[in-house]
Amino acid sequence: MPLAMRMPLGTRDCGQHEWRHWDDDIDVCSHCLAGERPRQPIDVPIDHELRMDLVRRAGEGDDLSARVLDRLHADDRELGRPRWRPPAT
Ligand SMILES: [Zn+2]
Repeated sequence: MPLAMRMPLGTRDCGQHEWRHWDDDIDVCSHCLAGERPRQPIDVPIDHELRMDLVRRAGEGDDLSARVLDRLHADDRELGRPRWRPPAT
């Protein structure tokens, strides 16, 4: 787990927002409570370990991971990227 996810969120602007989706309308910063913006597609590289982790967990029946994956796929479409498929095993 990235260090930032274990740190308590600060109320001051962290100066280097790392965006994640909060809901269908809003993105928030993973580092601070000051960061908030209208939702935008997040460009997660196709071979990013986050995706691999989500695919693995969704495959194990984790509903939240499956929902996040669906969200990433929607972002891919918005970014004009072809739908991601897990690597053949
Ligand atoms: Zn921030």
